[in-house]
Amino acid sequence: MIIFLESLGCSRNQVDSEIMLGRLVAAGHSLTDDPKLAQIIIVNTCTFISTASDEAVEIILGMAKFKETGKCKKLIVTGCLAQRYKDDKNLASSLPEVDAFLGTGACDNIVEAVENRQSKTLTIFPDPSKREFQNLSTPRHLTSDFFAYIKVSEGCNRKCTYCIIPQLRGFQRSRPKKDICTEARNLIDSGIKEIILTAENTTDYGQDLQDKSESKQKTDFSHVLTSLAETMHTDHAWIRFLYTHPKTLTQSVIQAVKNNKNICSYYDVPIQHASSSILKKMGRPYTNEGLYELFKTIRQIDTQAVLRTTIIVGFPGESEEDFEGLMQFIKDVKFDHLGVFTYSDSDDLKSHNLKNHVPEDLVEKRHDMIMAAQANISQTINEQYVGSTFEVLIEENPEKGVYIGRTMFQAPDVDGVTFIYENELEINTFVNVRITDAFEYDIAGVIA
Ligand code: SF4
Repeated sequence: MIIFLESLGCSRNQVDSEIMLGRLVAAGHSLTDDPKLAQIIIVNTCTFISTASDEAVEIILGMAKFKETGKCKKLIVTGCLAQRYKDDKNLASSLPEVDAFLGTGACDNIVEAVENRQSKTLTIFPDPSKREFQNLSTPRHLTSDFFAYIKVSEGCNRKCTYCIIPQLRGFQRSRPKKDICTEARNLIDSGIKEIILTAENTTDYGQDLQDKSESKQKTDFSHVLTSLAETMHTDHAWIRFLYTHPKTLTQSVIQAVKNNKNICSYYDVPIQHASSSILKKMGRPYTNEGLYELFKTIRQIDTQAVLRTTIIVGFPGESEEDFEGLMQFIKDVKFDHLGVFTYSDSDDLKSHNLKNHVPEDLVEKRHDMIMAAQANISQTINEQYVGSTFEVLIEENPEKGVYIGRTMFQAPDVDGVTFIYENELEINTFVNVRITDAFEYDIAGVIA
């Protein structure tokens, strides 16, 4: 069969997509980048916020059209949206175009779903908490030649009131450290230049392991970082990690970054808000003071630290004072990179039952105010790079004389990039670039 897969949502979903594609290729199927040519179309969905759910449904309906205009014989929906509505008896009738629904625990059933001959809609929803990590012989079909995400754990034990993920991905299971290092070794040997560790909360790694182990063997994320840095110490490659949790981003993790040159001094710390009363309503176990302390500590231990965060504006009960406190916090800390979400309500979330939901127009106004403030902060930070030289991983050559790459302080898909004005550079190699220009989110330069 010829198969096309559309991967939506986060890096964890992208790993699932690559595992499903790897299994399909291993089973003798072939892949296409053009849905019109595909006999089987798979949409791996996201539902974290309502706009993501809307986008997923729009794409599913768009892909269904290829049953008339293309070669599509079967449409399969996998991932978080399917999992969220697994008990909804109208799921199949609401999307009659779909031939199979697979939950987040069913990536390993993708070949079965593709080769299924039944006419009625197939549904496979195993308990996501029972899903095993892919073993090292599981083929992955990578979607980038330059970087690859590695999941260090699956699921989440936390109870943020605005979040559905624990219901969709199950409770936290940490992956054996040696498997993480071996997979990284295999990826680097296959030509990848950057390993990006991901999870719902990378720094919560090991919390589930300790409970089980007789010896109470202390295994936390700093051990993963240190072992991985050793595994890759002879390689010219980067290690990055995303989605830390403010409560478990400990000094030992920061020290592990400081001690290992091949780990990017890049701290992605989704704080979600900075008002202690809103954080309490969100179920986030830290305070405004604790956050000021955390970012001060990171910068004291690691003077090269680059900070990224994401926040939610318009959370139920967010007063003018809460919002001003958040704005002041952002101006004080000066994040290198910042993403803003508007609160996304849904009746299956605990936060739905909170009082004083914020009017939509005010939510949008607050979103835009934060973005405007951050644009200035980002421009100022980028201007400080002018005249300095940084190592850049070359990824694209969009036009003659222009290449695009990233530095250690630019993560893929979410941050700005570095433009290099040169004629002949090799893709997927590292070069030293002297920065000559700074823009709101991007920078540019020439070979040093
Ligand atoms: S930590 Fe909170 S926001 Fe993150 S996945 Fe877990 S419940 Fe969701």
